[in-house]
Amino acid sequence: MRGVMTKFLQISCLLAILTLMPVCKPHRKAMAAEWSVTIHPSILRTGDVARIELNPATAIFSATLLWRKQLIDLSPLPNGRLVALIGIPRDMAAGIHQGKLQITARSGLRRNHLVNLQIEEKNFPEQHLSLPPRQVSPDQKAIERHRREEAERDRVFNHLQQACLWKAPFQLPVQGKLLSPFGLQRILNGQPRSYHSGVDQRARLGEPVATAGGGLVVLVTNHFFAGKSVYIDHGMGVITMYFHLSRISISEGERVAAGQTIGLAGATGRASGPHLHWGARVHNCKVDPLALLRALESPP
Ligand SMILES: [Zn+2]
Repeated sequence: MRGVMTKFLQISCLLAILTLMPVCKPHRKAMAAEWSVTIHPSILRTGDVARIELNPATAIFSATLLWRKQLIDLSPLPNGRLVALIGIPRDMAAGIHQGKLQITARSGLRRNHLVNLQIEEKNFPEQHLSLPPRQVSPDQKAIERHRREEAERDRVFNHLQQACLWKAPFQLPVQGKLLSPFGLQRILNGQPRSYHSGVDQRARLGEPVATAGGGLVVLVTNHFFAGKSVYIDHGMGVITMYFHLSRISISEGERVAAGQTIGLAGATGRASGPHLHWGARVHNCKVDPLALLRALESPP
């Protein structure tokens, strides 16, 4: 019954009724306004990106979504709808998770609307590796460098562009086949290590790498693990990252369009050979970049 109800709630898009009754004229007949909420894709799995769309029938001043203790502003679309993108963490428990939409009508009236997200657990594969112990852990100098680099990255992740900076659908940065998926659990000499936070695609040394979508170049750097790297903020909480490049052809502060070349593939940093590692975050949640492509396959 619970499953049937959930399905019903999703299909019916949780039609909500907003009653606008001016307090100074209580005798006037109440005006009813309504909205619907759609969730794309309808079935979500861990590591996915969900697109939450609010379709109002009357004027709405603003809407925010409370999701995992984060308040996310919905962005207005040209078609009058409002949209928010959220990440589903790789290690989130399966089941129904609730977000709360806080909607403010032009009249100033506020309403809450609960959004139920049905999350299914995805089974991520394991990769067992054996390496000589001295190759497993970087030395103290490298660890300190990595900490400084993490702080540099965190500044980017904590100052996100609010406006939507992309128009065309997102696309793969290179066409090479998938070598290693998002979420792969690495087990090094029998010890679980951090999971693979992006996807690896085959790319020849010097092959052009394109940005997955339009945005603002927010960080161009050379990190210990990631090598020559580019971080692009697409707005609406979305950041994509491109690692191990041999050459970078754009600068921080530059606006880029979908498909624009940002550099050439390589093997800088800790890479066993030329390939492109690219990753994505949505409101600071690591997500599967291929799930981001699916969520942003249609223009905003
Ligand atoms: Zn990788």
